[in-house]
Amino acid sequence: MKVEDFAKTHRRIDYLRIFLFIAIFLVVGIVVSLLRDNSLYLLLFTSIGSGSAIVEFLKMYFPDIRQHIRITFQIIVGASLLIFLTYGVGVNFQFSQLFFDASGGVVTGALIQLLVARIIIPLFYGNMFCSQVCWSGVAFELMKNESSCNGIMKPRSNFLAWGYLLLVVMSVLVVSQWWNPATNGIDIKTGLNERRLLAFGEIIFVFFVSYVSISHWGSRSYCRLLCPFITISGVISRFSLYKIRPVLNNDCVGCGECDRACQMNVKVSTSILNKEPINDSSCILCERCVSACEFDCLEMAPFKFKKK
Ligand code: SF4
Ligand code: SF4
Ligand code: SF4
Repeated sequence: MKVEDFAKTHRRIDYLRIFLFIAIFLVVGIVVSLLRDNSLYLLLFTSIGSGSAIVEFLKMYFPDIRQHIRITFQIIVGASLLIFLTYGVGVNFQFSQLFFDASGGVVTGALIQLLVARIIIPLFYGNMFCSQVCWSGVAFELMKNESSCNGIMKPRSNFLAWGYLLLVVMSVLVVSQWWNPATNGIDIKTGLNERRLLAFGEIIFVFFVSYVSISHWGSRSYCRLLCPFITISGVISRFSLYKIRPVLNNDCVGCGECDRACQMNVKVSTSILNKEPINDSSCILCERCVSACEFDCLEMAPFKFKKK
């Protein structure tokens, strides 16, 4: 690619990103609505795809405020899913629900979320679900405190992450032998919706763990160290089409601003100085590092390119 063609090509890259969002969610919406015989899934997925495409479009034209655009979108989508799906119809997006459902022989939103957000989307956009959709993620991002910037972040441990995932699975399989909200539904005597009870109980637990750990282990500690979802999608995200990549003719001065901006403790500057894309399974493609770099040394892109 010629350097002079950058402006034109850059637009093409961004439009590809926008087009892909619409295409992927449309296909997923059609498939899920056919499998579940419910056209509401088509509406849900095309809405998310269109919303994501609009966000990418806005970020493309207003790069200076891309973080505000992203976070605003994440608050709206996360809150909508929480209110309308989790509270409204009792669809639980927490990890434990998958195994309660599996042991009860039911298919619900948790499994669909795992397949779409943790296996299909990561092939294209890595762990972007965490920086654009997850309601816990946006709350943790806004919870960032002083200590997160002071180099005390506990490094990710695969042993801890996979151990926690295994612990959740084993605990659920044991508990489901005598209590399973996936099959219990609503208690007729008390009117209690057990699915909703589990969902909000787990949300409170996750927030409590995160709030306590953030001051000891740094920003987004639950995401970085424990969350089973990113443990799974992190494996696939290594093969993701879109990554944070160094601009080929970049002028990195090694200032480390990108490292300090990253809440996931990714060593961004090391990759950029080595002219390599970021392949860290913790990267959530939030582009905080891109926004932090005054020298425009990095971009989220499907391949390396030069800037004008
Ligand atoms: S790591 Fe888990 S809790 Fe954090 S944003 Fe991703 S899905 Fe949400
Ligand atoms: S990529 Fe940019 S922010 Fe990061 S070290 Fe290099 S110049 Fe600094
Ligand atoms: S490396 Fe950049 S895009 Fe990835 S999590 Fe860190 S700040 Fe976000």
